Amino acid sequence: MNCDKRAETPEALKTDDDEGRVRALERYEVLDTDEEEPFENVVKLVQQALKVPMCAVSLLDRQRQWFKARRGLGVRETPRDISFCTHAIQQADAFIVSDAAEHPIFKGNPLVTGEPHIRAYAGIPLKTPDGYNLGSLCAIDDVPRDFQPHEISMLESFAKIVMEELELRQIASSDGLTGALTRRAWRETADTEIKRANRYGRPLSLAIMDIDKFKSVNDTYGHAAGDTVIKHLARLFMDSKRESDFFGRLGGEEFVLLMAETSDVNAQHILERLREEFSAAPIENDAGNQINCSFSAGIAELSEGEDLDPLLARADQCLYEAKNGGRNRTVLDQTQQPRKKAVDHGLAKTLVTESQ
Ligand code: GH3
Ligand code: MG
Ligand code: MG
Repeated sequence: MNCDKRAETPEALKTDDDEGRVRALERYEVLDTDEEEPFENVVKLVQQALKVPMCAVSLLDRQRQWFKARRGLGVRETPRDISFCTHAIQQADAFIVSDAAEHPIFKGNPLVTGEPHIRAYAGIPLKTPDGYNLGSLCAIDDVPRDFQPHEISMLESFAKIVMEELELRQIASSDGLTGALTRRAWRETADTEIKRANRYGRPLSLAIMDIDKFKSVNDTYGHAAGDTVIKHLARLFMDSKRESDFFGRLGGEEFVLLMAETSDVNAQHILERLREEFSAAPIENDAGNQINCSFSAGIAELSEGEDLDPLLARADQCLYEAKNGGRNRTVLDQTQQPRKKAVDHGLAKTLVTESQ
């Protein structure tokens, strides 16, 4: 795998380029994502192996530290300026504080004087192959403690696993929960399809879907039930999509369908049919609950020479209108001039030949 190759010749640590570092973090598309098993396993193992009450995979955004996985920590994020992690990422190796209450920088820190009462901290920077520290894997104790060399070395090995998982996540093209294309893979495909549609003057439409009131599904029936609903929606779309449709998970319970060779009116017919089917019958989860769900969608057709992002933005605006209009509906973008439709059969033939 080429990331192994890059790891053999790691670039020098870049600690004075925070903007580049944040952009590198954004490329991993991990901030504000859900809990995922590999990271959960790592924090569980660190907690057991080092016998610490707290452990986290902490990622440092512009203004906050956000925990991809955590044990013994109540909150999912804290302001960046009070985080220990912001110091850990300045280091090439482990950053260790044996007694924070005696430490010149940390003794007045609210995470030390108040919840979660940090006294000892060991953080291993999560370094990318191109030399940015995204955050740290940290083990935290609420009593003073000297971390032993074998414990630090174990933590370093776990930090490597975290980075490898982040790399794997990045190169995966299908989403683990639903099998839909990942955001990244979908965008790449969409770019290619849009170039092709622009080049040959062919119609292409795009729909963004978001499940309605999904938070209340999680709150009422639990997270696993929420996952069942997400999978159900993805299955419905993937089972009914055509060869020239590309279905992706943008994140959470938001999905996108790119329909090549499809006008906006036809796209809305397709989406209306799927919307009706999805909301018609309740979804049964493992516990036997009958969950009623719907989704809203915004739809837009590619206008001449348009790129992916403006097209997405138009569909997203329609999704917003669908939500405001009461949900469980589809809204079609009407802001663009109707596109000159290319129905030239010669062109269509060329397209078929090119795509083979
Ligand atoms: P709205 O109709 O306005 O869309 O309301 P909503 O409750 O659906 O609001 P929103 O779209 O903001 O909520 C998304 C929720 O989805 C928040 C997040 O906790 C949850 N979520 C994100 N990813 C997952 C996942 O993979 N599984 C589960 N079960 N929940 C998820
Ligand atoms: Mg929603
Ligand atoms: Mg949403």
